[in-house]
Amino acid sequence: MNKKKALSGILAAGILASVPLSAAQAITPKWINVNVSEEQAGSKFNNQNYDFMKFSEIGPKLEEIEKQSNRVKVEVKGTSADGYPLYVVTIADPTTQGKFGKIQSLRKQMFKNPEKAQDWIANNPDFKVPVMINGSIHGTEFVGSDAVMQLIEHFATENDEETKTILENNILIFNVVQNPDGRVDATRFNGEGIDLNRDFITQSQPETQETVALIKEWNPMVFLDTHGYVNYDLNNPGLIEPCTPPHNPNYEYDLYEKWALDQAKAMEAEIVGDKAQFEGDLYKNMEGTYIPQRDDSAGWDDYPPIFTPMYAMYHGAYGHTLEAPQNDEDGVRWMYNAIMGALKFATENKEEMITDQIEMFKRGINFDHPFHEEGFFPKAYVLPVNEEDPTVTNKAVNHLIKNDIEVVQASKAFEADGKSYPKGTYIVQMDQAKAGLANTMLWDGEDITDDTPAMYDISAWSLPELWGFEAIAVQGDVDTVASKVTNVKEQGSVSGKGPFIISNSSVKAVQLVNQLLQQGVEVKRDSEGNFYAESAANAVSEAVKASGLNIESGKVPADAVSIEKVSIAILKDGGMGKVQSHSGTKLALKRLGFDVKELTPSEVAEKGLESFDVFVYSGTEGLISLKLSEANKEFGLQSQVEFDAFKSNVESFVNKGGKYIAVGASASRATKTLGLTDDVINTGGSNSNGIIKVAYEGTGATAGYGEDDLGFVYRPVWFTSTDNDEVLATIADDENFFVAGHWAGREAAQGQAIMVKEQDKDVTLIGLEAGFRDHTDYLFRLLSNSIFEK
Ligand SMILES: [Zn+2]
Repeated sequence: MNKKKALSGILAAGILASVPLSAAQAITPKWINVNVSEEQAGSKFNNQNYDFMKFSEIGPKLEEIEKQSNRVKVEVKGTSADGYPLYVVTIADPTTQGKFGKIQSLRKQMFKNPEKAQDWIANNPDFKVPVMINGSIHGTEFVGSDAVMQLIEHFATENDEETKTILENNILIFNVVQNPDGRVDATRFNGEGIDLNRDFITQSQPETQETVALIKEWNPMVFLDTHGYVNYDLNNPGLIEPCTPPHNPNYEYDLYEKWALDQAKAMEAEIVGDKAQFEGDLYKNMEGTYIPQRDDSAGWDDYPPIFTPMYAMYHGAYGHTLEAPQNDEDGVRWMYNAIMGALKFATENKEEMITDQIEMFKRGINFDHPFHEEGFFPKAYVLPVNEEDPTVTNKAVNHLIKNDIEVVQASKAFEADGKSYPKGTYIVQMDQAKAGLANTMLWDGEDITDDTPAMYDISAWSLPELWGFEAIAVQGDVDTVASKVTNVKEQGSVSGKGPFIISNSSVKAVQLVNQLLQQGVEVKRDSEGNFYAESAANAVSEAVKASGLNIESGKVPADAVSIEKVSIAILKDGGMGKVQSHSGTKLALKRLGFDVKELTPSEVAEKGLESFDVFVYSGTEGLISLKLSEANKEFGLQSQVEFDAFKSNVESFVNKGGKYIAVGASASRATKTLGLTDDVINTGGSNSNGIIKVAYEGTGATAGYGEDDLGFVYRPVWFTSTDNDEVLATIADDENFFVAGHWAGREAAQGQAIMVKEQDKDVTLIGLEAGFRDHTDYLFRLLSNSIFEK
């Protein structure tokens, strides 16, 4: 076992030698999950003790297959967060090799001239459709990539009629291991602690960015995402989507539905038809599989575009999540058969299916959505630019472009819905092929509490609201001279002789402040949360240019006080319940430019917090619980003695003036357990989440936010009995405080405190999800404000 581990270490080092420095640096302080060695035999996450294909074996095997076959192209398309290669294998018959570029550009006709593309399809029946298969985006769900490897070998080498027919009609694109870090570490998440199958609206990780690029490159007709392990019904093991309601209204769902259920049934039939070949009784006796849309009315929805297949649906794909029943050879066979069933179905129905895929783009281009109410899609979104700090809008525009959404920039001033906008304003015209994707990214969302009992995951994600840029939905035509934008290049500027004002306006602004503090520049901060750099222009200009901000000179107000570089410890969740509950806040702090160190609960108990200025608890209360399941124990405190040491170390840190910040419901409850607050901690359901109206105090820790503003909650929390606190923010005292999402039984939270600071000690409770999955950029400054606030 040790030998294997050492070997994989050497291979990892070999891979690292060829990746850029930044990726290599990411791996050095990497914390080794205890499960790495256990995974080889007897891991709690591998209870069938299945001998899966190790990541280190995949590259050599692909190379070997490529040598044997003239149908296979193996590429490395970037690297994971930890620096491992992301393999993409394309399989097509030899006549198609070397013509991928031509086929891709032909496919792009689909959203330039859809009628012509539909005619071309009708007249050229030998065209090939791309089918994309995503392997094991969750690292512990090993069978996905294993089935993918078997399929690659099959299609590379077999010559039976069925194989040939499939290759005559399809191009197979395999994203072989979507999450190498997770496979190597035996974790669900990647090396940054992010669940990649929740990252498709924000695309914060290199793995999701690679998949988005691949989807955009091919616009696959079918997209299959391999997972495990679900057995809701033992007579029908596994799960194949389509989903239960609610379906997101931004889809052209009728076009998807026309094929998705039948395709799922074809996958099911292929699995059941092969049942004699399975080993286990679970499979030998199966009658079918569980198809949520057919077999249930709620509980497995396709509402948020954070999941890979749901995201792919906005590019016209018939997307399916496939959940194998078990982590074993039978699970691999189940997955292999399911994919084979989909390939046969796609082959038989390709002409009609692709015509409907093109129909989706046609509806977009013609601004003709037969199943949507008039006005559901605005005519356009107008994105004004803040001249002083354009960074948030720039990020949004580049994000939209990367997602195949067309953005133009006005060459002169114009009017829309009676309002005038200056030259330079960005416009997303909604008569475009991927209008559904544009709308799901830019809309406000909706309150779906009454539509379904509970949601599987988030139910609101508006990028303007959660990233903090303006996107005005316009119902009238926007006629103006404008040019297409391909990429916004950021270049900041400094004017005057200083001192320089850096408004507390964005993540980039705070990042700049931290950068200047690192450089030894003297920075002051006023009660409005704005910063003042007291130095000559040449000392700050390089950092300012890189930041994208435009900085001017000004007077330093009398109430401004000096701030210093701070060192922050964040409590580390190693993978409790298979997630890293602290990872969103950790990424937020890093993006704000702070120096952050992760400490496990045991490390806090053992070493204390003496060398830190700030301690952040943003994660599950399980981290300080002694009642943990076997699988979670290793990530928490090990004994009552350790708990007592943890509590006393945190207490003495706070007593000596250390700053303690808790983020979210679970951390707030833990804070109570630690005796650091006497507030009553009220929580909503763990599935409740959404965007809410918030009234912020607007100075100090909530500087830069208003009394009529927004926030985001997930498992909402609010505080009562706050007599000993300074209340920094409350949920709006308005019965319509809930803007979008799903939150049943929320009445009691109306008008209640959601961000408080204890008066007698430096303990701040932030009930909002200030650092949620690298998604709530707009709320990140609640963290930096709280940190800088004396
Ligand atoms: Zn999964």
